[in-house]
Amino acid sequence: MTDFSPKLVDRFGRVVNYLRVSITDRCDFRCVYCMAENMTFLPRKQILSLEEIHWICQAFVELGVGKIRITGGEPLVRSGALDLLRQIGAISGLDELVMTTNASKLATLAHDIRAAGVKRINISLDTLDPAKFKALTRTGDLENVLKGINTARDAGFERIKLNAVILKNRNHDEVCDLVHFAVDRGIDISFIEEMPLGVIDSHDRGDVHYPSRLIKHDIERRFPLQALAESSGGPSVYYRIAGTHSRVGFISPHSANFCASCNRVRLTAEGRLLLCLGNEHAVDLKAVVRQHPGDRARLQAAIIAAMAVKPERHTFDIHEKPVIFRHMNATGG
Ligand code: SAM
Ligand code: SF4
Repeated sequence: MTDFSPKLVDRFGRVVNYLRVSITDRCDFRCVYCMAENMTFLPRKQILSLEEIHWICQAFVELGVGKIRITGGEPLVRSGALDLLRQIGAISGLDELVMTTNASKLATLAHDIRAAGVKRINISLDTLDPAKFKALTRTGDLENVLKGINTARDAGFERIKLNAVILKNRNHDEVCDLVHFAVDRGIDISFIEEMPLGVIDSHDRGDVHYPSRLIKHDIERRFPLQALAESSGGPSVYYRIAGTHSRVGFISPHSANFCASCNRVRLTAEGRLLLCLGNEHAVDLKAVVRQHPGDRARLQAAIIAAMAVKPERHTFDIHEKPVIFRHMNATGG
């Protein structure tokens, strides 16, 4: 008889069925909330090879993971990213392959990414003002990103969602314009409170904190929101913008703790399995695959054992000095 009981269950009874994979810590942008201006990236031999990433993903899918998100850093700056997407997209038993990107390469790659089996795509967009875009990303070009978004709309993804990190006095005045942009294109948008991951040099995170409550209040002055029960088993709380095809989500690590429903773990580019975004609890899967190449059972035993290390919750405090020194690009956001 087939055993359908979940294999990845943590100490708090949460079933893990979602893996986020950072395939590189590198990026062509330097977003002010994500990175410092001068970053040192990992040397090539320290990061997982594409074959190792595929191998680990297969092991997770056999253990009941149905959804994999490819992220980074910027996943599309890694050479071979498309081949990897094709290989992961072909893993039998995987229900959903999705990805998160800054869109800098979507104008040329969106159709190939869709053909590789990526069903849905999240695109970061914090502002519609070219000068602010340059200031927030330090190196990005808004026009190119907007081209990428347009191409993605033509490529036939089941859903496109924008992600916007809102910072007080940097882009908080653009919340409604961003919603308008999403509604006009029939796509979704999520607003994210900045999280204190890693040391940055552009601002004090406490000074720019802009809570979801205020973002929602700003939106409701122009767009009627209808609460939705649906959730990704994750941090977003969703609303339908009445009379439109768009939904708006709020990811509020500070103002609304979402840990009780956490269903995910993260694989970093260097092969650490992170059990929680806001804690350092981790298991070194690279060591397992390099010391025991080809031994799927041993890898799966390490993954199952890691569930015992998953912490109950994060305790971010935006006003304290960061206690998590890894940046979001090294985390697989
Ligand atoms: N480079 C891709 C991108 O920007 O979409 C994928 C990786 S990026 C780390 C994933 C998401 O994390 C982006 O939507 C970004 O805005 C968000 N992010 C980065 N640093 C963050 C922080 N400190 N707090 C909250 N969100 C952050
Ligand atoms: Fe790069 Fe994404 Fe971080 Fe921006 S948020 S620096 S695009 S990894």
